[in-house]
Amino acid sequence: MKKNTNINIKEIRKDFPILNRKVNGNDLIYFDNAATSQTPKVVIDSIVSYYSNYNSNIHRGVHALSQEATDAYENSRIKFQKHFNADNSFEIIFTSGTTHSINLVANGFKKILKSGDEIIISQLEHHSNIVPWQMLCEETGAKIKVIPIDHNGELVFSEFEKLLNSRTELVFVNHVSNALGIINPIKKIIDRAHEFNAIVLIDGAQATPHMKVDVLKLDVDFYVTSTHKICGPTGVGILYGKEKWLNKIPPFFGGGEMIDQVTFEKSTYAGLPNKFEAGTPNISGVIASGIGLDYMNSIGLENINKYESELLNYATKEMLLIEDLKIYGVSKEKTSVISFNVGEIHPYDIGSIVDKFGIATRTGQLCAQPIMDYFKIPGTIRVSFSFYNTKEEIDLFIKALHKAISMLS
Ligand SMILES: *Cc1c(COP(=O)(O)O)cnc(C)c1O
Repeated sequence: MKKNTNINIKEIRKDFPILNRKVNGNDLIYFDNAATSQTPKVVIDSIVSYYSNYNSNIHRGVHALSQEATDAYENSRIKFQKHFNADNSFEIIFTSGTTHSINLVANGFKKILKSGDEIIISQLEHHSNIVPWQMLCEETGAKIKVIPIDHNGELVFSEFEKLLNSRTELVFVNHVSNALGIINPIKKIIDRAHEFNAIVLIDGAQATPHMKVDVLKLDVDFYVTSTHKICGPTGVGILYGKEKWLNKIPPFFGGGEMIDQVTFEKSTYAGLPNKFEAGTPNISGVIASGIGLDYMNSIGLENINKYESELLNYATKEMLLIEDLKIYGVSKEKTSVISFNVGEIHPYDIGSIVDKFGIATRTGQLCAQPIMDYFKIPGTIRVSFSFYNTKEEIDLFIKALHKAISMLS
């Protein structure tokens, strides 16, 4: 199949039913894509089709429906394996989301870490990549060290190097910051951490919507994301782990499907990936996530990335013309996210007013309080663009922003 070399935005927008709706009497302008992406009709249809045609539990029935469901579910795993270039399909574990994936790994290290071991995270992390490690440290006596950011919001690599030593066991960094959109130099981080035999987990929730990720090339130990940010439904996450680490850590949940033998004395665990997929999973969601991935790949991540960069550059240029508007996160390596404030106006007030014009933004701490503390602000307004957004929408947003500012100052 020949891939499009250009994005046909008009056609693409037709694929998303929600883009037809009105909000407060205006056409919806959805600029909250970093929180969750909208869902194309093919994905919605696949969920309807699952429940209409082959709803059934997987891996356990010999009957036709169960086999169809199992095949579709496992086929989805293979799609993600290929997409991320993992060696084996069993290195792709389906979870309920990024948060679940991170907790699964953190839980897995409870018995492995010792008091005095060190974990490095960054100041740019989402709360879901901070709290599980704090919980792990409370239980094990390990310590957290934090890679600082500079005034642009970029990680200070030389400070990271200073934190590494023989006690460093784990390094956890996001690929792209959800609050600032900055792309972190993860290959450099992974390689340097490996020189100290540290295990690296990358939170890819903000990267996978915008760029191709090759786990083999990265040589990353764990890579996690949520499919609701890549055109899939909510409630499905991906955990990629190298086989050796997935074999080393214990399961998070006990129950059906994750066992080999069960007696009252002792149960033995199933092999990968079942060991980590106890109970009935989100079958329709996993299948639909595979359809969402296919949809995104049919447009092409390179095309998406190029188009979104145009939107980012256009919006950045227009917004910087506004007096007293400050953008947080300045870097050449950025995804289509703009986090900003205008003078002393509270982000929430601007967010509420632009919502009256049908424009969805995110306001507040963005699940990243340490970043807000660094900049000494209560929060920001964040607009984040996807490949179905347009320059016309950005123009309408700028207009609404001007109105909000004149009402509030
Ligand atoms: C969205 C996001 C998460 C949390 O994802 P969930 O789907 O809510 O579990 C974690 N990290 C980053 C960087 C995110 O953008």
